[in-house]
Amino acid sequence: MVHIVGAGSGDPELITVRGQRFLREADVVIYAGSLVNPELLKLCKPEAEIYNSAKMMLDEIIHVIVLADKAGKTTVRLHTGDPSIYGAIQEQMDALTKNGIEFDITPGVSSFLAAAASLKQEYTLPGITQTVIITRCSGRTPVPDTESLAQLAQHRTTLCIFLSVNMLSEIKNELLSAGLEETTPIAVVYKASWPNEEKIIRGRLNTIEEQVKASNIDRTAMIIVGQCLGATLEQYRKSNLYSPQFAHMFRKAES
Ligand code: SAH
Repeated sequence: MVHIVGAGSGDPELITVRGQRFLREADVVIYAGSLVNPELLKLCKPEAEIYNSAKMMLDEIIHVIVLADKAGKTTVRLHTGDPSIYGAIQEQMDALTKNGIEFDITPGVSSFLAAAASLKQEYTLPGITQTVIITRCSGRTPVPDTESLAQLAQHRTTLCIFLSVNMLSEIKNELLSAGLEETTPIAVVYKASWPNEEKIIRGRLNTIEEQVKASNIDRTAMIIVGQCLGATLEQYRKSNLYSPQFAHMFRKAES
């Protein structure tokens, strides 16, 4: 049996209760060493075999899992954040299926959500936007042409941009070409939720590159763009949910 587990964004307390239990019980743990907080490995049994997947190729990972499975052992495959977002789990799941190995998935707190918590920000403000787009810039993994930032930004939603903090200049150009103003609010959150390591930088499209350069952030950062950032009560509409004029299944409206 293999449990694919989302480790959460960094703070070891942000793994789920179920993920924590699987980690405690595992005979074999393969963790994404580049981003998973190693503090979590302290939960493992002393005799658990632990592998850092940052140093492995897909075939090696599958080989370790197949051997464990044949020996009747349980493996936890520990991914950063939530495994469904840039987690490269599909190819692993397909290989497990091909080898007749059972698996399940436990979700995790993705870094774009940890970043919202760090920023103390709601991404879906009524009157501003009701949509969040998760994306990245093209790097060694290309992004389909129909999903260029310039096209996505035209919707004026909240944008959460992964894996791209070293491309802030390209991001600015694409967003400007989509018609966004130079003063559009943007934030970069480095190591969101990591105890004592997190850094938050708030700026505008025309300032953020310099600000980020000055703070030496070059990886493990989330970029958030949109008018939700720092919007004031006068700029967004209060939600209907708690409005006195609005009735719903659990509450009558005030007359
Ligand atoms: N599955 C992960 C994402 C893996 S891709 C998730 O759900 O969060 C790796 C990228 O995620 C990094 O380049 C960075 O953009 C982002 N990331 C991961 N952890 C982060 C954190 N604690 N703070 C900010 N960004 C983070």
